[in-house]
Amino acid sequence: MAPLAGIPRYTLRPPLVKKNSMKGEWYTINFAVGCTHGCIFCYVDHFHKRYSRDRVGSLVLRKWGQYFAIPSNIEQLIAETPWWRWRGKNVFMSSTHDPFLPQLADTGYRIARKALAYGLRLTIATRSILVERYMPRLAGHDNLTIMVSIPTLNEQFSRLIEPRVAPPRRRLKVLEKAKALGIKTGALVAPLFPPVPQRENLREDLDQLLSELARIGVDVVYSEALHRRGLNMHYLRETLGEEPPVNPLVEEMLMSLFAELAEKHGLDYVWIPGYYELEEIPRGSIRGTRRGHEKPCCVEDG
Ligand code: SF4
Repeated sequence: MAPLAGIPRYTLRPPLVKKNSMKGEWYTINFAVGCTHGCIFCYVDHFHKRYSRDRVGSLVLRKWGQYFAIPSNIEQLIAETPWWRWRGKNVFMSSTHDPFLPQLADTGYRIARKALAYGLRLTIATRSILVERYMPRLAGHDNLTIMVSIPTLNEQFSRLIEPRVAPPRRRLKVLEKAKALGIKTGALVAPLFPPVPQRENLREDLDQLLSELARIGVDVVYSEALHRRGLNMHYLRETLGEEPPVNPLVEEMLMSLFAELAEKHGLDYVWIPGYYELEEIPRGSIRGTRRGHEKPCCVEDG
């Protein structure tokens, strides 16, 4: 694990499992403020700049990807969480950071072991290949899903929008290895970008990505459109030279394309709507769920 010395600390009150107040019957486990992956589109910075100053002060005023803090009392948090309370519940780890960042991987593994032992239905959401190291020791639990986030197969585009993460095809290998170990798998194609000059052929890219996920036999694929949150459009303008189009009609187009191609490849899929509160787009037209998969609480991840 990467050295922890010098990383700012904060105190977190037990339990580690929290109710996700925004989206249905899901719970989350988060144990860091900030995420060193620093993906350009990430929405989490918005929430920390609003709500995390009482925990870590002005640290969160830095640019996204340039602040990071961990709990000083992680052992207490693990020990004093009454895990049995969430037996059988859907728990998402993590919604505000990657739980398998180099600085967090050992802790993420220990938390996962605890949660699985107590029967929580745990989804580990990650863009990190470090999870592979722990998968043989996590295998054998029906209550575990490993969900890998891959927004594009286009390597150049991936380097632009998620510059500190392993290449997309390398992340597909994580899913292959999880399948080989008998672990339930998910993929999060998120965020699904509209066409931009750096990746014009959206259809071809998504088609290839979903084809690869079908070949691997991923159990379920989730997706959502890119959304505007906090400063993410500012960072994207800096990186791409212009702001990607983001509005309900673009979202509807992306949802239709995702549903069409997921059907084509015989994948179980869930589209996570972002604009359903807007009257002008009927809710039913931007959802596409087969076989009743529940949506994860988090799309701000992870
Ligand atoms: S999208 Fe996920 S992995 Fe990327 S910076 Fe945000 S929380 Fe971290």
